[in-house]
Amino acid sequence: MEHGDHGTPRMGAFLHLRGNGIDKGDPVALPLVQSSMYHLPGAPDGSNSYGRADNPTWVALEHALEHLEGAPCRVFPSGMGAISAALFATLKAGQRLLIPADGYYVTRLLADRYLRPLGVIVEERPTTGFAEGGFSGIDVVFLETPSNPGLDLIDLAAVAGAVRAAGGITICDNTTMTPLGQRPLDLGIDIVVASDTKAMGGHSDLLLGHVASRDAGLVQAVEDWRRISGAIPGPHEAWLLHRGLETLEVRFDRMCRNAEALAPRLAEHRAVSALRYPGLQGDPAHNLARAQMQRFGFLLSLDLGSEEKAERFINDCPLLRPATSFGGVHSSAERRARWGDAVAPGFVRLSVGCEPVEELWQALRDALDTL
Ligand SMILES: *Cc1c(COP(=O)(O)O)cnc(C)c1O
Repeated sequence: MEHGDHGTPRMGAFLHLRGNGIDKGDPVALPLVQSSMYHLPGAPDGSNSYGRADNPTWVALEHALEHLEGAPCRVFPSGMGAISAALFATLKAGQRLLIPADGYYVTRLLADRYLRPLGVIVEERPTTGFAEGGFSGIDVVFLETPSNPGLDLIDLAAVAGAVRAAGGITICDNTTMTPLGQRPLDLGIDIVVASDTKAMGGHSDLLLGHVASRDAGLVQAVEDWRRISGAIPGPHEAWLLHRGLETLEVRFDRMCRNAEALAPRLAEHRAVSALRYPGLQGDPAHNLARAQMQRFGFLLSLDLGSEEKAERFINDCPLLRPATSFGGVHSSAERRARWGDAVAPGFVRLSVGCEPVEELWQALRDALDTL
């Protein structure tokens, strides 16, 4: 997909993105360029100059991400690196930032500890009813949908339109869905930020993040932030993510299918007192999910009634990694109350992996049966 061409990416073309641009004798796999210096005699002419500004492995990764997002992208050393870049590049002292009260908690920490003391006015609203109160006078609206970990949804097109009409900028954290599951830029959002540590990388072996935008000025602003702040990705991580992205479509499809198959079965189990999954008929967010998401995702949340039961389920099921983070090929789960999220003590966030679904269901059911 070329820049400006919207819609779901063609994943066949994606797999040949590099191959169709190389010459006889070139490696088919992406070379890893691990260099701080570039051969630079004479006057600088825009060729690679220094490792904090230029790296061919980043450029190749950004080209791949651009195909997925349908927009220019810049890579950062983590999801928080990408979120910091988007916020620091768009906000000034005296401006107002609105963020969800129940989204990824480190984003709220960043706003509280670093943006507020620099003079940014930070406001929070719950995901449910996010648009209530309108957006007039707000300079930057940060969104996360489905919210992590509650899995409530925000109507992206409605909020993007209202914020734009009020003269503000929207930033959407699309980590939980990837560009294959939800396309915020197509719904009018100005900037997408994502942690590629999760499903994009998919193998739990790297941390990275990216910023995507169709506004050239915003892309330049985050690129300048990266070069000047020094928050640059390592070339090896960039290479690993590029490799992981080649199987994103296969992995994400299996994970979403597995979650769709498991959600109704889990919801019916006697040990599960509540379950949220946007793909479940009857979920409060189901109709909006059908309207704005390409897929329903691979994250489920369940309430198992108590801390003790939730811990036993997570730690004893042989096909679950008890771990924070999500989106790996292996299913994983954690009790979010252990980090202070405002959820019940028995609330479990389950990240469904690529295991064959019946084998996974048997393991989950066996673990639930013992509770
Ligand atoms: C994990 C996560 C982040 C932060 O990403 P890192 O790569 O850990 O810095 C941001 N937003 C959401 C929704 C996340 O799940």
